[in-house]
Amino acid sequence: MEKIKCLILGSGPAGYTAAIYAARADLKPVMYQGLQPGGQLTITTEVENYPGYPEGIQGPEMMEEFKKQAERFGTDVRWGLATAVDLSQRPFKVTIDEKTEVLAETLIISTGASAKWIGLESEQKFNGFGVSACATCDGFFYKGQTVAVVGGGDTACEEASYLSKLCKKVYLVHRRDELRASKTMQHRVMKAENIEIVWNHVPKEIVGEKTVNGVILENTQTGEEMRLDIEGFFVAIGHKPNSDIFKDQLEMDANGYLITKHDSTQTQVPGVFACGDVQDHVYRQAVTAAGTGCMAAIEAERFLSDQD
Ligand code: NAP
Repeated sequence: MEKIKCLILGSGPAGYTAAIYAARADLKPVMYQGLQPGGQLTITTEVENYPGYPEGIQGPEMMEEFKKQAERFGTDVRWGLATAVDLSQRPFKVTIDEKTEVLAETLIISTGASAKWIGLESEQKFNGFGVSACATCDGFFYKGQTVAVVGGGDTACEEASYLSKLCKKVYLVHRRDELRASKTMQHRVMKAENIEIVWNHVPKEIVGEKTVNGVILENTQTGEEMRLDIEGFFVAIGHKPNSDIFKDQLEMDANGYLITKHDSTQTQVPGVFACGDVQDHVYRQAVTAAGTGCMAAIEAERFLSDQD
Protein backbone atom coordinates (compact mmCIF):
# COMPACT_ATOMS: atom_id res chain seq x y z
CA MET A 1 0.00 0.00 0.00
CA GLU A 2 1.32 3.45 -0.91
CA LYS A 3 2.66 5.39 2.06
CA ILE A 4 2.35 9.16 1.90
CA LYS A 5 4.13 11.56 4.22
CA CYS A 6 1.56 14.32 3.92
CA LEU A 7 -1.84 13.64 2.43
CA ILE A 8 -4.07 16.58 1.60
CA LEU A 9 -7.77 16.10 0.95
CA GLY A 10 -9.50 18.88 -0.99
CA SER A 11 -8.28 21.44 -3.48
CA GLY A 12 -9.60 24.85 -2.49
CA PRO A 13 -7.42 27.71 -1.25
CA ALA A 14 -6.76 25.90 2.05
CA GLY A 15 -5.64 22.67 0.39
CA TYR A 16 -3.42 24.33 -2.20
CA THR A 17 -1.80 26.65 0.33
CA ALA A 18 -1.11 23.67 2.57
CA ALA A 19 0.37 21.92 -0.48
CA ILE A 20 2.66 24.83 -1.35
CA TYR A 21 4.04 24.99 2.18
CA ALA A 22 4.25 21.22 2.61
CA ALA A 23 6.04 20.77 -0.72
CA ARG A 24 8.54 23.49 0.11
CA ALA A 25 9.18 21.78 3.46
CA ASP A 26 9.94 18.57 1.52
CA LEU A 27 6.94 16.67 2.88
CA LYS A 28 6.24 15.41 -0.66
CA PRO A 29 2.52 16.13 -0.40
CA VAL A 30 -0.05 14.19 -2.33
CA MET A 31 -3.37 15.92 -2.89
CA TYR A 32 -6.65 14.30 -3.80
CA GLN A 33 -8.75 17.06 -5.29
CA GLY A 34 -12.17 15.86 -4.21
CA LEU A 35 -15.54 16.16 -5.86
CA GLN A 36 -15.14 19.77 -6.97
CA PRO A 37 -11.52 20.36 -8.05
CA GLY A 38 -10.62 23.91 -7.12
CA GLY A 39 -13.41 24.15 -4.56
CA GLN A 40 -16.14 26.72 -4.20
CA LEU A 41 -14.23 29.44 -6.05
CA THR A 42 -14.66 27.53 -9.26
CA ILE A 43 -18.38 28.29 -9.12
CA THR A 44 -17.97 32.02 -8.62
CA THR A 45 -17.17 34.54 -11.28
CA GLU A 46 -14.82 37.37 -10.47
CA VAL A 47 -12.79 37.39 -7.23
CA GLU A 48 -11.96 40.96 -6.30
CA ASN A 49 -11.09 40.68 -2.63
CA TYR A 50 -8.10 38.33 -2.75
CA PRO A 51 -4.96 40.37 -2.12
CA GLY A 52 -2.44 40.41 -4.93
CA TYR A 53 -4.93 40.68 -7.79
CA PRO A 54 -5.52 44.42 -8.12
CA GLU A 55 -7.69 43.98 -11.21
CA GLY A 56 -9.54 40.98 -9.80
CA ILE A 57 -9.42 37.49 -11.25
CA GLN A 58 -11.93 34.87 -12.30
CA GLY A 59 -12.39 32.24 -9.55
CA PRO A 60 -11.57 29.22 -11.77
CA GLU A 61 -8.48 30.98 -13.14
CA MET A 62 -7.27 31.80 -9.65
CA MET A 63 -7.58 28.17 -8.63
CA GLU A 64 -5.55 27.15 -11.70
CA GLU A 65 -2.81 29.50 -10.48
CA PHE A 66 -2.95 27.94 -7.00
CA LYS A 67 -2.61 24.52 -8.59
CA LYS A 68 0.34 25.53 -10.76
CA GLN A 69 2.13 27.00 -7.76
CA ALA A 70 1.59 23.84 -5.70
CA GLU A 71 2.79 21.64 -8.58
CA ARG A 72 5.82 23.83 -9.19
CA PHE A 73 7.18 22.72 -5.81
CA GLY A 74 6.38 19.08 -6.45
CA THR A 75 2.87 18.48 -5.09
CA ASP A 76 1.39 15.36 -6.61
CA VAL A 77 -2.14 16.53 -7.49
CA ARG A 78 -4.50 13.67 -8.24
CA TRP A 79 -8.10 13.17 -9.22
CA GLY A 80 -10.05 11.33 -6.57
CA LEU A 81 -12.38 11.62 -3.64
CA ALA A 82 -11.68 10.24 -0.18
CA THR A 83 -14.61 7.98 0.57
CA ALA A 84 -13.51 6.45 3.90
CA VAL A 85 -10.88 7.02 6.57
CA ASP A 86 -9.53 5.05 9.47
CA LEU A 87 -7.89 7.41 11.94
CA SER A 88 -7.66 4.88 14.78
CA GLN A 89 -3.93 4.43 14.25
CA ARG A 90 -1.07 6.08 12.43
CA PRO A 91 -0.32 5.90 9.56
CA PHE A 92 -3.94 6.69 8.78
CA LYS A 93 -5.73 4.60 6.23
CA VAL A 94 -7.63 6.56 3.58
CA THR A 95 -9.75 5.02 0.85
CA ILE A 96 -9.97 6.89 -2.43
CA ASP A 97 -12.97 6.44 -4.73
CA GLU A 98 -14.04 3.41 -2.72
CA LYS A 99 -11.21 1.30 -4.11
CA THR A 100 -7.65 2.55 -3.62
CA GLU A 101 -6.24 2.53 -0.08
CA VAL A 102 -3.33 4.73 0.90
CA LEU A 103 -1.50 5.25 4.18
CA ALA A 104 -0.84 8.76 5.43
CA GLU A 105 1.69 9.76 8.07
CA THR A 106 -0.04 13.12 8.38
CA LEU A 107 -3.42 14.10 7.07
CA ILE A 108 -4.53 17.62 6.17
CA ILE A 109 -8.28 17.91 5.77
CA SER A 110 -9.31 20.79 3.53
CA THR A 111 -12.51 19.34 2.16
CA GLY A 112 -14.38 22.66 2.42
CA ALA A 113 -18.07 23.27 2.67
CA SER A 114 -20.85 23.38 0.17
CA ALA A 115 -23.57 25.99 0.09
CA LYS A 116 -26.96 24.49 0.60
CA TRP A 117 -29.35 25.07 -2.27
CA ILE A 118 -33.11 25.24 -2.13
CA GLY A 119 -33.48 22.59 -4.80
CA LEU A 120 -35.40 24.48 -7.49
CA GLU A 121 -34.67 23.67 -11.11
CA SER A 122 -34.60 27.38 -11.99
CA GLU A 123 -32.01 27.91 -9.25
CA GLN A 124 -29.55 25.71 -11.11
CA LYS A 125 -30.52 27.15 -14.49
CA PHE A 126 -29.64 30.72 -13.41
CA ASN A 127 -26.64 29.81 -11.25
CA GLY A 128 -24.01 32.41 -12.15
CA PHE A 129 -26.60 34.40 -14.15
CA GLY A 130 -28.41 36.09 -11.29
CA VAL A 131 -28.36 33.29 -8.73
CA SER A 132 -25.54 33.15 -6.21
CA ALA A 133 -24.80 31.73 -2.77
CA CYS A 134 -22.18 34.33 -1.87
CA ALA A 135 -22.91 38.03 -1.48
CA THR A 136 -19.29 38.89 -0.70
CA CYS A 137 -18.23 37.23 -3.97
CA ASP A 138 -20.97 38.45 -6.29
CA GLY A 139 -22.75 41.37 -4.59
CA PHE A 140 -20.76 43.96 -6.49
CA PHE A 141 -22.38 42.93 -9.77
CA TYR A 142 -25.76 44.04 -8.42
CA LYS A 143 -24.72 47.56 -7.50
CA GLY A 144 -27.76 49.87 -7.62
CA GLN A 145 -30.11 46.97 -8.42
CA THR A 146 -32.80 45.06 -6.54
CA VAL A 147 -32.02 41.66 -5.07
CA ALA A 148 -33.56 39.03 -2.81
CA VAL A 149 -31.82 37.00 -0.12
CA VAL A 150 -33.41 33.79 1.10
CA GLY A 151 -32.93 32.58 4.67
CA GLY A 152 -33.44 33.77 8.22
CA GLY A 153 -30.16 32.90 9.92
CA ASP A 154 -26.98 34.85 10.57
CA THR A 155 -25.69 34.20 7.06
CA ALA A 156 -28.83 35.55 5.40
CA CYS A 157 -28.84 38.65 7.63
CA GLU A 158 -25.15 39.21 7.05
CA GLU A 159 -25.57 38.85 3.29
CA ALA A 160 -28.64 41.12 3.29
CA SER A 161 -26.89 43.85 5.22
CA TYR A 162 -23.77 43.54 3.03
CA LEU A 163 -25.93 43.84 -0.08
CA SER A 164 -27.95 46.75 1.35
CA LYS A 165 -24.82 48.87 1.13
CA LEU A 166 -24.48 48.15 -2.59
CA CYS A 167 -27.99 47.63 -3.84
CA LYS A 168 -30.98 49.88 -4.24
CA LYS A 169 -33.27 47.43 -2.47
CA VAL A 170 -32.88 44.09 -0.72
CA TYR A 171 -35.75 41.72 0.03
CA LEU A 172 -35.03 39.24 2.80
CA VAL A 173 -37.32 36.30 2.21
CA HIS A 174 -37.90 34.03 5.18
CA ARG A 175 -40.15 31.03 5.53
CA ARG A 176 -41.31 31.88 9.07
CA ASP A 177 -42.41 35.00 10.94
CA GLU A 178 -39.29 35.32 13.06
CA LEU A 179 -35.61 35.27 12.26
CA ARG A 180 -33.25 32.62 13.53
CA ALA A 181 -30.32 35.06 13.44
CA SER A 182 -28.67 36.52 16.53
CA LYS A 183 -30.15 39.72 17.94
CA THR A 184 -27.18 41.77 16.72
CA MET A 185 -27.66 40.56 13.17
CA GLN A 186 -31.42 41.09 13.35
CA HIS A 187 -30.85 44.60 14.58
CA ARG A 188 -28.50 45.32 11.68
CA VAL A 189 -31.15 44.17 9.22
CA MET A 190 -34.02 46.08 10.86
CA LYS A 191 -31.92 49.23 10.90
CA ALA A 192 -31.21 49.23 7.16
CA GLU A 193 -33.80 51.34 5.40
CA ASN A 194 -33.56 49.51 2.09
CA ILE A 195 -34.06 45.97 3.46
CA GLU A 196 -37.62 44.70 3.43
CA ILE A 197 -38.35 41.41 5.14
CA VAL A 198 -40.87 39.23 3.37
CA TRP A 199 -42.14 36.96 6.14
CA ASN A 200 -43.70 33.54 5.68
CA HIS A 201 -42.66 33.05 2.08
CA VAL A 202 -40.58 30.53 0.17
CA PRO A 203 -39.30 30.83 -3.39
CA LYS A 204 -41.23 28.74 -5.86
CA GLU A 205 -39.58 29.73 -9.10
CA ILE A 206 -36.88 32.08 -10.26
CA VAL A 207 -37.78 33.67 -13.55
CA GLY A 208 -35.95 35.53 -16.31
CA GLU A 209 -34.65 35.32 -19.84
CA LYS A 210 -30.87 34.97 -19.96
CA THR A 211 -30.56 36.43 -16.48
CA VAL A 212 -32.91 36.69 -13.52
CA ASN A 213 -35.66 39.32 -13.56
CA GLY A 214 -37.96 38.05 -10.84
CA VAL A 215 -38.92 35.42 -8.33
CA ILE A 216 -42.28 33.86 -7.60
CA LEU A 217 -42.85 33.39 -3.88
CA GLU A 218 -45.40 31.25 -2.12
CA ASN A 219 -46.95 32.22 1.19
CA THR A 220 -46.30 29.37 3.64
CA GLN A 221 -49.57 30.13 5.49
CA THR A 222 -52.05 30.71 2.68
CA GLY A 223 -50.38 29.18 -0.38
CA GLU A 224 -50.88 32.46 -2.24
CA GLU A 225 -48.27 33.44 -4.79
CA MET A 226 -46.61 36.79 -5.41
CA ARG A 227 -43.84 38.06 -7.65
CA LEU A 228 -40.85 40.21 -6.74
CA ASP A 229 -38.99 42.03 -9.50
CA ILE A 230 -35.32 41.38 -8.82
CA GLU A 231 -32.04 41.11 -10.71
CA GLY A 232 -30.16 39.03 -8.14
CA PHE A 233 -31.23 36.05 -6.05
CA PHE A 234 -28.99 35.05 -3.15
CA VAL A 235 -29.43 31.76 -1.38
CA ALA A 236 -28.27 31.92 2.24
CA ILE A 237 -29.84 28.94 3.92
CA GLY A 238 -26.60 27.65 5.38
CA HIS A 239 -23.48 25.77 4.41
CA LYS A 240 -22.73 22.16 4.95
CA PRO A 241 -19.15 21.28 5.83
CA ASN A 242 -17.88 18.31 3.86
CA SER A 243 -17.04 16.28 6.93
CA ASP A 244 -19.33 13.24 6.70
CA ILE A 245 -16.53 10.70 6.31
CA PHE A 246 -14.96 11.83 9.61
CA LYS A 247 -18.07 11.19 11.70
CA ASP A 248 -17.33 9.25 14.91
CA GLN A 249 -13.59 9.72 14.34
CA LEU A 250 -13.08 13.46 14.71
CA GLU A 251 -14.76 15.93 17.00
CA MET A 252 -17.24 18.17 15.22
CA ASP A 253 -19.85 20.69 16.29
CA ALA A 254 -23.59 20.24 15.89
CA ASN A 255 -23.40 21.53 12.30
CA GLY A 256 -20.59 19.18 11.29
CA TYR A 257 -17.69 21.66 11.39
CA LEU A 258 -14.47 19.96 12.51
CA ILE A 259 -13.15 21.20 15.82
CA THR A 260 -9.50 22.20 16.04
CA LYS A 261 -7.43 23.29 19.00
CA HIS A 262 -7.31 26.99 19.80
CA ASP A 263 -4.90 28.91 17.52
CA SER A 264 -4.14 25.70 15.68
CA THR A 265 -5.39 23.40 12.94
CA GLN A 266 -4.68 20.30 15.07
CA THR A 267 -7.73 18.05 15.55
CA GLN A 268 -7.99 15.75 18.55
CA VAL A 269 -6.12 13.05 16.61
CA PRO A 270 -2.38 13.86 16.59
CA GLY A 271 -1.18 14.14 13.01
CA VAL A 272 -4.59 15.10 11.61
CA PHE A 273 -5.08 18.76 10.77
CA ALA A 274 -8.15 20.59 9.50
CA CYS A 275 -8.14 23.89 7.66
CA GLY A 276 -10.40 26.08 5.56
CA ASP A 277 -14.17 25.98 5.47
CA VAL A 278 -14.50 22.47 6.87
CA GLN A 279 -13.49 23.95 10.24
CA ASP A 280 -14.41 27.63 9.83
CA HIS A 281 -18.01 28.71 10.06
CA VAL A 282 -17.19 32.31 10.87
CA TYR A 283 -15.12 33.86 8.06
CA ARG A 284 -15.37 31.42 5.15
CA GLN A 285 -13.17 33.51 2.86
CA ALA A 286 -10.55 32.27 0.39
CA VAL A 287 -7.87 34.29 2.11
CA THR A 288 -8.68 32.97 5.59
CA ALA A 289 -8.81 29.44 4.20
CA ALA A 290 -5.37 29.96 2.65
CA GLY A 291 -4.11 31.21 6.02
CA THR A 292 -5.24 28.12 7.87
CA GLY A 293 -3.88 25.92 5.06
CA CYS A 294 -0.47 27.45 5.70
CA MET A 295 -0.87 26.75 9.43
CA ALA A 296 -1.79 23.12 8.77
CA ALA A 297 1.32 22.48 6.67
CA ILE A 298 3.61 24.11 9.23
CA GLU A 299 2.00 22.06 11.99
CA ALA A 300 2.30 18.85 9.95
CA GLU A 301 5.99 19.55 9.37
CA ARG A 302 6.59 20.18 13.09
CA PHE A 303 4.61 17.10 14.01
CA LEU A 304 6.77 14.91 11.74
CA SER A 305 9.99 16.49 13.02
CA ASP A 306 8.92 15.72 16.60
CA GLN A 307 8.47 12.04 15.63
CA ASP A 308 12.08 11.70 14.42
P1 NAP B 1 -28.66 28.57 9.85
O1 NAP B 1 -28.48 29.24 11.15
O2 NAP B 1 -28.87 27.12 9.80
O3 NAP B 1 -29.90 29.29 9.15
C1 NAP B 1 -30.42 28.84 7.94
C2 NAP B 1 -31.67 29.65 7.64
O4 NAP B 1 -32.16 29.26 6.39
C3 NAP B 1 -32.78 29.45 8.67
O5 NAP B 1 -33.43 30.68 8.95
C4 NAP B 1 -33.72 28.48 7.96
O6 NAP B 1 -35.06 28.68 8.30
C5 NAP B 1 -33.51 28.83 6.51
N1 NAP B 1 -33.69 27.69 5.65
C6 NAP B 1 -33.09 26.47 5.74
N2 NAP B 1 -33.47 25.67 4.74
C7 NAP B 1 -34.34 26.41 4.00
C8 NAP B 1 -35.09 26.15 2.82
N3 NAP B 1 -35.01 24.96 2.19
N4 NAP B 1 -35.89 27.11 2.34
C9 NAP B 1 -35.99 28.32 2.95
N5 NAP B 1 -35.30 28.63 4.06
C10 NAP B 1 -34.49 27.69 4.57
O7 NAP B 1 -27.43 28.84 8.84
P2 NAP B 1 -26.47 30.09 8.76
O8 NAP B 1 -27.24 31.34 8.78
O9 NAP B 1 -25.57 29.83 7.58
O10 NAP B 1 -25.59 29.97 10.05
C11 NAP B 1 -24.83 28.77 10.33
C12 NAP B 1 -24.02 28.97 11.59
O11 NAP B 1 -22.99 29.93 11.35
C13 NAP B 1 -24.85 29.53 12.75
O12 NAP B 1 -24.38 28.96 13.93
C14 NAP B 1 -24.59 31.00 12.70
O13 NAP B 1 -24.75 31.62 13.97
C15 NAP B 1 -23.13 31.03 12.25
N6 NAP B 1 -22.83 32.28 11.55
C16 NAP B 1 -22.35 33.30 12.29
C17 NAP B 1 -22.08 34.51 11.70
C18 NAP B 1 -21.56 35.61 12.51
O14 NAP B 1 -21.58 35.50 13.72
N7 NAP B 1 -21.07 36.67 11.93
C19 NAP B 1 -22.31 34.68 10.33
C20 NAP B 1 -22.82 33.62 9.60
C21 NAP B 1 -23.07 32.43 10.24
P3 NAP B 1 -35.62 28.35 9.78
O15 NAP B 1 -35.15 29.48 10.64
O16 NAP B 1 -37.09 28.32 9.58
O17 NAP B 1 -35.04 27.03 10.15
